[in-house]
Amino acid sequence: MLWRRHKTFPRGIHPPECKDETRGSPIRQFPFAPVMVIPMQQHIGKPAIPVVAEGQEVARGQLLARADGFISVPVHAPASGVVKRIALVPNIDGHMVPGMYLQCFPGATQEVIEGTPCRVETTTPEQIIDAVQQAGIVGLGGAAFPAHAKLRIPEGKTVDTLLINGVECEPYLTTDHRVMLEQTDDIFLGIRYLLKATGAERAIIAVEANKQDAAEKLRRQAPNNLPVMVEVLAVKYPQGAEKMVIQALLNREVPSGHHPYEVHVIGVNVATAAEIGRLLPHGRGIQERVITITGPGVKKKGNYRIPIGTPLRFALEWVGVGDDLAEVFLGGPMMGQAVPSLDIPITKGINGFVAFTEAQIYRAEKVLPCIHCGYCVAACPVRLNPARLGLLAKRERYEEMARSFDLMDCFECGACSYVCPSRIPLVQHFRVAKQRIKKRRAA
Ligand code: SF4
Ligand code: SF4
Repeated sequence: MLWRRHKTFPRGIHPPECKDETRGSPIRQFPFAPVMVIPMQQHIGKPAIPVVAEGQEVARGQLLARADGFISVPVHAPASGVVKRIALVPNIDGHMVPGMYLQCFPGATQEVIEGTPCRVETTTPEQIIDAVQQAGIVGLGGAAFPAHAKLRIPEGKTVDTLLINGVECEPYLTTDHRVMLEQTDDIFLGIRYLLKATGAERAIIAVEANKQDAAEKLRRQAPNNLPVMVEVLAVKYPQGAEKMVIQALLNREVPSGHHPYEVHVIGVNVATAAEIGRLLPHGRGIQERVITITGPGVKKKGNYRIPIGTPLRFALEWVGVGDDLAEVFLGGPMMGQAVPSLDIPITKGINGFVAFTEAQIYRAEKVLPCIHCGYCVAACPVRLNPARLGLLAKRERYEEMARSFDLMDCFECGACSYVCPSRIPLVQHFRVAKQRIKKRRAA
């Protein structure tokens, strides 16, 4: 075979992939924790509103809370059991939010109840969008934006390409890789729903070159009557960011502050597409998801189908961690966040966690002054000037960062911090600056 250069975007970095230990690990079912912790807000938008009462018995898959408006999704029971308490529960950011505690029935069959099926052949685009909302599906790549809201294309806009994002460039994570290998048919069925809902003419599944087996399987099993193609992209971080994939594949640049539909594209994570294909034909709600549990601190590393609401502490006990556990990252080490507490539950948007021991944790050494090497500028995929932004952040000149240096275009990929020889925590500065600006503008 002739060597050929894979498509990619300009700039970016190459951190170690660290995927070898789980990429070959088939998805296994995780057991049910004795008590599930279920926040009403596991998505961007308004929290869901409970429709059950304390003490009520519920079946797995039953509606626990309904969506509150269009930018909101319902919550379903991850297990059969009894609603112990409707109260404030810890969320992934460590804040207490409205939610409920569900005590599982240990001897229950844990069969999932079915609802009204949504058949792709006989439903309208509106009905599909409604069914996606009723299933409680959010962006499973980590964004947690309600999937149905993304599918509604505004009046006057058109979409020609449905981009199915299976790039998964974050180090350590192999969730999407396994979903592509093991839920291939669910993905194709999900694509049928998505093409109909959006009116796109074709779908492209984007995969990084380190998942050739997944790309080959998808190509082999693609139905003849489905306008879908598989594209393999170069291994580079952050290749999986939506704007980067669009640029690499289609050479279209999404304007600053705009949605991909401005360039006639709609992007959906591959695991989201698979869940749409798995749930909609049965009228089911989402009550579990696939995650990667890995890192030097974990004994049973692997990919698991885990009930939503499983407390992190229970998950860690089950996979086995040593006494030297130092830090757990939700997501991955580049874009993820260190967990504030082990009491937080696995929610819909969590695609994995990575546990590090004391020996592997990089304890921030002394931050040195900027030496103007330009490495951060060369790494930034959206052509920002992180060095300049870092200096302004130090002086708390946040508005100037946004006004003159496009701070709000920073999507916090962390590439600039990764390459900085002076160990300046650039991305942390930018997170703080963006939060301050948003708060000020909302006041
Ligand atoms: S974190 Fe922001 S500024 Fe730094 S490289 Fe990524 S997009 Fe650019
Ligand atoms: S990488 Fe660090 S030291 Fe180099 S220019 Fe950027 S901020 Fe300065």
